[in-house]
Amino acid sequence: MEKNKKNDKFIIAIDGPASSGKSTTAKELAKRLEYVYLDTGAMYRACGLEAYRQKISLDDIPKLTKMMQNIKVEIKYSLPNNIVLLNGEDVSLAIREPHIGKLASDISAIGLVRAGMTDLQRKLGENKGIVMDGRDIGTVVFPNAEYKFFMVADLDERAHRRFLEEQEKGSTKTFAEVKDELAQRDYNDSHRDIAPLKQAEDAILIDSTHLTISEQVEKIIELIGKRK
Ligand code: C5P
Repeated sequence: MEKNKKNDKFIIAIDGPASSGKSTTAKELAKRLEYVYLDTGAMYRACGLEAYRQKISLDDIPKLTKMMQNIKVEIKYSLPNNIVLLNGEDVSLAIREPHIGKLASDISAIGLVRAGMTDLQRKLGENKGIVMDGRDIGTVVFPNAEYKFFMVADLDERAHRRFLEEQEKGSTKTFAEVKDELAQRDYNDSHRDIAPLKQAEDAILIDSTHLTISEQVEKIIELIGKRK
């Protein structure tokens, strides 16, 4: 695809459940388009990590409010992964600890946390030329994004991908445990009151169950090319 001129740049929103292939696809897409890639899940993970470190219970709204007033989450666009700074400290690895995923999901259901991160995501996206992956980018953060994709894959396939990833990190969890955790996270993310995970009406559905990464990326590049 030809490199877009600055004023032709757009926002590409890729939402979907955990392990549906959205981040791998988003990163590859950003590389191909020479866009930046923003991992919005990493921002909620940073909030979860901060609450964990400060030992704040997620029902303690006054303490969470104070935490959100003082928290500084910064993203440095690097590939393959964003560098995430939490109050100036590089927490890119710490936020990937398995227990932080669940915390991120729980804390992301809280309105004041979502408001803070949504504001930040909108600022980061204002110059366009960005591929963002998350759960609510096409529905809430950038409802006017030029391109929206909603990626899904069968639960078994997603659990298989996650299981292999976790095994590589030395996890001893069984496949059944990984699958249960994923199903629970999907349920939480799609049943919360604020900005639940759902397909935007104008998002294109991509089922990655039987697609390789390059097939997913090609499909999206082709769809973008067709609608340009
Ligand atoms: O994408 P990742 O699994 O790292 O996201 C961690 C959690 O952050 C998700 O389970 C979800 O609850 C939350 N999240 C969100 N909105 C986003 C991105 C992530 O609520 N835009």
